[in-house]
Amino acid sequence: MTQTHPIDGLPDRGQIVTSEQWLRFTEVMQSQVTPGAWQTWIQRLEPSFDGQRLTLRAPSDFHLRWVMDKHGQHIEQACLTAYGSEVELEYTIGEPSDDEPLPMEYGRRSTDPLPTAPPAPERVARLVRKYRFENFVVGQSNRFASAAAMAVAEQPGRNYNPLFIHGNAGLGKTHLLNAIGYQALEMYPGMEVRYVTSETFLTDFINSIRRKKTDEFKTRYRTTDILLLDDVQFFDGKEQILEEFFHTFNSLYESGKQIVITSDRHPRNLVTLEDRLRSRFEWGLLTDIQPPDVETRLAILRRNAEYAAMPIPLDVLEFIAGLVSDNIRELEGALTRVTAFASLTGEHTSLPMAERVLQDMLPGHESKAVNAPEIIAATAAAWGYTMDDLEGPSRKQPLARCRQVAMYLCREHTDLSLPKIGAHFGSRDHTTVMHAIEKVKSVMQTDREVFDRVSELSQSLRKR
Ligand code: ADP
Ligand code: MG
Repeated sequence: MTQTHPIDGLPDRGQIVTSEQWLRFTEVMQSQVTPGAWQTWIQRLEPSFDGQRLTLRAPSDFHLRWVMDKHGQHIEQACLTAYGSEVELEYTIGEPSDDEPLPMEYGRRSTDPLPTAPPAPERVARLVRKYRFENFVVGQSNRFASAAAMAVAEQPGRNYNPLFIHGNAGLGKTHLLNAIGYQALEMYPGMEVRYVTSETFLTDFINSIRRKKTDEFKTRYRTTDILLLDDVQFFDGKEQILEEFFHTFNSLYESGKQIVITSDRHPRNLVTLEDRLRSRFEWGLLTDIQPPDVETRLAILRRNAEYAAMPIPLDVLEFIAGLVSDNIRELEGALTRVTAFASLTGEHTSLPMAERVLQDMLPGHESKAVNAPEIIAATAAAWGYTMDDLEGPSRKQPLARCRQVAMYLCREHTDLSLPKIGAHFGSRDHTTVMHAIEKVKSVMQTDREVFDRVSELSQSLRKR
């Protein structure tokens, strides 16, 4: 006999089959593992029970492997205690239902009334869901940085404060920063976590001066439990904001709050940084992220390939891993092009096909750097729009699609951060840019016209 109602201690994802036995199971588990492990790993397993078999669904492959590795025995024991020896235990993987509130821009259709307030607290809305630890592949090049990030998420303000992560564009700094935010919020739901790009910090500051609300600004940034500041190199050469950040830093640090900072360079190469701030950056833990070695690149591709509609042979993944070495964003872009082509044409993914689709990336085709205005101009022209159209407010189709493609191409062809890309499109938010990129990726899989346009633009941009 099973009842169907969600129970305490489990996220309500609609139909969760539960029972006396499941309650017993959770009790046993909670007595066996730390509260942190319970919240992070066990509580997120979704159970179903058919009378003979208890199936535990993990949100990702990584999650599953972690759970089986670290807690497999406890789980078996708890299953035995709660369900008895007749019942089989089974694991499975699946995405949890997308129950997370999205930022305003995401879900609103043009016919929907304007919401009067953001649907989610800001601290959640500004984090990017895709960027969590379970989607982060750990390898030699990022092992230390990711371990430090996890430690900070688990015990904010304790051991590594500040944590300073530096490395070139496209190597996972923003991903790790978001992952810390998610993880900390999952473990400490009441905690205030603030992710902010350095650009946003600066604009917030300027606006607060203009509106004579500097006190509000100070409260906002000096009382948060975790401050995640992305791309601090943006402050370089800007004295006033460096001064302001110095005070923010001190105030957080003195009250034992966690600070995590990323930068595309080592603090010693932030030339205008005063020594007092530079030395503070080095107080805690300084770690870099290196370009991924070929095993890690392959592991990242395999992880991404799991989500593709059709299987991708290993030699194709190896080919891509060999093609792109110093930027994970480009690595993902190359895979997207291959899977999109396969799903559009129905053609089986093979090495010759991948070589054809990615021919402009082969050695000998090194491209000149293009900048965002060039990309925007070319994309606008391909649709018969002007750059002003793309920067303007209208969200009508097909203009909106054209704008999304331009954002996608900016991400693929430049090192610009999401907020910087947004700035080129009439100050759009970085979550809007993120959404656009994901949207184009998925539309490319089903819409031949969009795929062709993106490919043609991509190739012509490389040939400039
Ligand atoms: P950065 O901020 O250093 O420029 P990002 O964090 O934006 O880089 O990463 C670029 C892309 O590569 C993102 O889509 C991110 O999810 C992905 N990525 C980076 N490192 C990893 C990793 N170790 N495992 C999986 N994906 C990664
Ligand atoms: Mg970044």
